[in-house]
Amino acid sequence: MNIVINGIGVAGPALAYWLMKSGHEVVLVEEAPRLRGGGYIIDFWGIGYDIAEKMGLIGAIRRLGLGDPSDFAAGLIRLCLYFGGNLARTSWTALFRSLEAASVLMAPGAVPRQINSLLSLW
Ligand SMILES: Cc1cc2nc3c(=O)[nH]c(=O)nc-3n(C[C@H](O)[C@H](O)[C@H](O)COP(=O)(O)OP(=O)(O)OC[C@H]3O[C@@H](n4cnc5c(N)ncnc54)[C@H](O)[C@@H]3O)c2cc1C
Repeated sequence: MNIVINGIGVAGPALAYWLMKSGHEVVLVEEAPRLRGGGYIIDFWGIGYDIAEKMGLIGAIRRLGLGDPSDFAAGLIRLCLYFGGNLARTSWTALFRSLEAASVLMAPGAVPRQINSLLSLW
């Protein structure tokens, strides 16, 4: 099947990877003049981390990582309801200890760039 995906953020190229792997023709379209570069650091973890692992990208992503979340001093994480009130609270250390090693701090464009470099090999 011929498929067009709008957006070269992180989801578009990851979806393109899996569609191409199962034999589809994919064209990625991006409205921005260039791929996103700067921005504040992000935590890379959860389902995105698991998928990157399945794509064989975790080694490269960890090498580009800016550190482990436990390297950073932070206090309480509070989940708030939209109209006020606390939903839950936990400590930064407890949260990231529960993730074990499956978490890394990244520059925002670093993960999409790794996926794109994987796609250019196809
Ligand atoms: C302040 C902030 C902090 C965040 N921190 C974290 C974090 O620490 N950890 C984490 O995992 N997530 C974080 N997120 C969430 C994360 O940024 C998003 O989940 C992720 O970027 C979603 O990826 P995406 O590819 O779906 O969308 P995007 O990354 O937004 O990419 C969409 C792309 O599509 C392009 N586009 C849009 N419309 C069109 C169109 N019509 N035609 C062509 N191109 C189009 C856009 O230009 C863009 O390049 C944060 C988000 C914000 C706003």
